[in-house]
Parts: sequence; C-alpha cells; structure tokens
Amino acid sequence: MAGTTIVFDFDKTIIDVDSDNWVVDELGATDLFNELLPTMPWNSLMDRMMNELHAQGKTIEDVKEVLRRVPIHPRIVPTIKTLHALGDANLFFIETIIDHLGIKDCFSEINTNPSYVDEEGKLRISPFVDFESSPHGCTLCPPNMCKGMIIDRIQASLAKEGRQRIIYLGDGIGDFCPSLKLRDEDFMMPRKDFPVWGLICGNRALLRAEILEWIDGEDMEKIVMKLIEKIKIQDSVQLLPVDFKIEAMPIALPQSVKVQQ
Ligand SMILES: [Mg+2]
Ligand SMILES: [Zn+2]
Repeated sequence: MAGTTIVFDFDKTIIDVDSDNWVVDELGATDLFNELLPTMPWNSLMDRMMNELHAQGKTIEDVKEVLRRVPIHPRIVPTIKTLHALGDANLFFIETIIDHLGIKDCFSEINTNPSYVDEEGKLRISPFVDFESSPHGCTLCPPNMCKGMIIDRIQASLAKEGRQRIIYLGDGIGDFCPSLKLRDEDFMMPRKDFPVWGLICGNRALLRAEILEWIDGEDMEKIVMKLIEKIKIQDSVQLLPVDFKIEAMPIALPQSVKVQQ
C-alpha cells in the first residue's frame, strides 16, 4: 500500500503565532513572562504562568476565548480539511484551537506536552518526556521533547503497513532533528526565513528528503497540493495500488528551544 503521512508542526506552522506567547500576551502577562524566561525551562514557565494568571482571577474560559481568536492564515484550514492532516504547544491549547477551527477530526494523533485542568480550575502543563526520570538523550533537542523520536515511531508503524511516504511541515529549531530522519522518498517543507529553514540551508548535505520551502498559508496550500498530485502520478506509474491515504497529526514543538522571531 502506497500512502502518505503528513506531519504538521503547530505553532507558527498551522497557526501564525506561538500559542504560548499568544495566551501570555493577550492575558497581559508579558512582562512577568519575560522576566522569568531566563530562570526556568519553557514548560515549567508556562505552568507557572497559568498559576499566576489563575491567581489574578483569569479562568479557563478566558484562556479559551483568547485561543479561539488566534491568528491563522485563511488558506490553512481549507488545506488541512482537504488533506485530513500534526503540532507544537500543549494539548489544551492545540485541542481548543483545532476544535474551534473545526479540524479536530482531521488529525489522527496529537503528540504534544500533556496538560490538564486541575481541581481549582487551573491549567497544568507537563513536559512530553520526563527528563528527570527518563531523558531522551538527543543532543539536538530540548529536554522535554525530541520530535525525531516521534518520527522514528511513526516510521516504524508505517513500515508495518507497507511503503509509506512522509511530508513534514515545520518552522522551529525542534523541527530540524525530525528532518534528519526523513528518507529519500520523503519531503521536508521548512517555512522560509524561520529557524528550521536556516538550519537546513546550512546543513543540506545531512538531509535525504527533498526540500520544499513555503512562505505562508497560501503558498503552503499551493505547494502541498502540487506535491500530492505529483506523488499520485508517480505511484500510479510505479503500478502501486493508488490507495492514497493521508493522515495528519499535530506534533508538539520543544518548548524550551523556542526562538523568538
Ligand atoms: Mg512551530
Ligand atoms: Zn531529537
């Protein structure tokens, strides 16, 4: 079975901003956030910020209201709906946004930092990998998450289903490690002028996948749709079953290496 799995980063790929920064800024806690940023890992800081906002009387409903008006390019939702499509924030932020956009059912799986609302109505955020008890050991990635490991797992399960191709879309430093795992038949789509694009341009020889850069939602739609057409044709030329399966899932960006644009 020939099929394609499309892996989307979330922050600054699906949505146009970083969802953590968006919530902090919109709820008026930017100064405290910037003050504490040099002193603790990103996930711990977000957990702390949620605690502070809760203490100031901000409710989960306030957080949801902010998430529902997150900036997104108008062509992204139609593209994902068409593709049935993966992200980078915490589960609560991602789920609230994709649910609001009406594209939650498009994603087969969401890999991100776990979060839950505690008994006091406070949002708690924990790292995807417990770096104290079981560090992932990847030197390219921050302690809370290695997206390369997620790609390893996806590739292993796809291998069981037969030959499968991956298209990976991302923007951040944390998207570099997974791009090194992609193979000749895969496609890496870095967002132009964003950190992962810079890393790829500087290390092209390390990547086996074909590289296709994109600028914004409109550009992403055009390139992905053209690519899908091209792959379909190739697969039929190779007389492989044209069972064109597209899966998409948001994977989570390593929070602690986020680079401010
Ligand atoms: Mg991102
Ligand atoms: Zn890694």
